[in-house]
Amino acid sequence: MSTPGDDELRTAVRDARDANPDLGALKLLAAIKDAKGWTLSEKRFRKALADVGGTAAGGGAAAKPSAKKKKGKKSRRVGDHLEPETHLDSTLDIATIAPKVNARMFNDARGKGLVAAEELQMGEMIWREDPFVACASPALHSILASNQMCSHCLMAWDHLPRTIAACPKCPASFCSRLCLQRAQESSHHPLLCEGTNPAAAPLNEFVQGREWRSLGIVARILARFLTSRAWEGAEAAKAFENRVFSFARVNMEERERDNPSFRAQEGTMTALWGMGHQLLLSALHPQTEVEQARLTKILRKGGRQVTPLTDEEEQRWFSYQAFLELLGMVNLNLEDSGGLYALHAHLNHSCEPNVQVRNLPKGWTPPDSLPAPLPEQLQRGTHKLTLLARNTIPAGDELTISYVPLDMPRNERQQALRLGYGFWCDCARCEREKTPTKPAKEDPEAKRRKEEAVESIVAGVDELAVDDQL
Ligand SMILES: [Zn+2]
Ligand SMILES: [Zn+2]
Ligand SMILES: [Zn+2]
Repeated sequence: MSTPGDDELRTAVRDARDANPDLGALKLLAAIKDAKGWTLSEKRFRKALADVGGTAAGGGAAAKPSAKKKKGKKSRRVGDHLEPETHLDSTLDIATIAPKVNARMFNDARGKGLVAAEELQMGEMIWREDPFVACASPALHSILASNQMCSHCLMAWDHLPRTIAACPKCPASFCSRLCLQRAQESSHHPLLCEGTNPAAAPLNEFVQGREWRSLGIVARILARFLTSRAWEGAEAAKAFENRVFSFARVNMEERERDNPSFRAQEGTMTALWGMGHQLLLSALHPQTEVEQARLTKILRKGGRQVTPLTDEEEQRWFSYQAFLELLGMVNLNLEDSGGLYALHAHLNHSCEPNVQVRNLPKGWTPPDSLPAPLPEQLQRGTHKLTLLARNTIPAGDELTISYVPLDMPRNERQQALRLGYGFWCDCARCEREKTPTKPAKEDPEAKRRKEEAVESIVAGVDELAVDDQL
């Protein structure tokens, strides 16, 4: 394997493109690598392709800006931070999922969010939601491997449920046939089940070994795009695409560049992303004909003609840039307990949130009367989210959750939100705590007097308590 010089590369790219006018960018790259035996990154190849004034077939090399713009606001740098790209998804039936909630597009900085359509009371269940893409936390891998939990909904069991259902192709087990069925669109996709698609094994191993959950979720998204397109048709694929691209997203690499420690890790991170992308391609969009034929055979199971991806589709879903965008999107929206949730992902952050997100056990029922206290920490729940009002929420108020633990001091919250989500929080609590009132240096005599006073109050309380018992 050798690495070409810039001139040599440009000549090869120009020749290959002219000789293969029908090939998309990634296939062109593969053809050049095959023919020359070069080590060549997609980024360098695309630069060379742009240098020779070119696009691959169908304009695949240069993303079509018009197609992107339609999706909504592009992530952009404002001051020292990135504003994610986001838009409202008209196919999400909010009126049915959460009748007392409206979605709204705020300004560019805040993006979209949810507001109360009518007054909500403390303890009120605002909605419940299953994940759009389910993926267990790496912390659960050993419990899942020992078959003590449903691989999809994460319901733990002491005794094997009578309704247990297993994947027909591998040892994964589920609490019911419904969970198995749902898993196949999400947490246990056939294209990522090694029994069905053995080419996914190295990817799965990498995801587990590195505990790289967001890569696992990107894989599930790409797998579902392929099967919705092949098994459900163009309309379903379009709806799926709209949903995916409605989540707020930033390019993972651009986001990491904001992190002061990135420079020291740049080489490692870039190598990891490259590896993750390559493994995704091997599993779901292989570049050799033999492997592609194997995948097409699995996809043909739906009984439809499986057409190859167009260059635009290839660019939008499988290019390295698409990978970095999907990775950034997943990291921005991941809900730790279960994966990606379409409506939950609309909620903005506040350090004094009015909504609580819970994973409650299957048997939990909403309170009969309101207001009601929030449920206590019961036993482990499933991956279904329940969203509860923490207090009375007047109609029109924005619904908020906290992205960070509420007991973090202001400074740590600010840093965590900046690094994890790309914004400086300016919520009412952060404003209040901006200039913490430092306790004035107390003179020792005054301190002693105060301590004595406190002691006497405590002693008095004790005496009262004793009197009560008499
Ligand atoms: Zn289940
Ligand atoms: Zn399986
Ligand atoms: Zn705040």
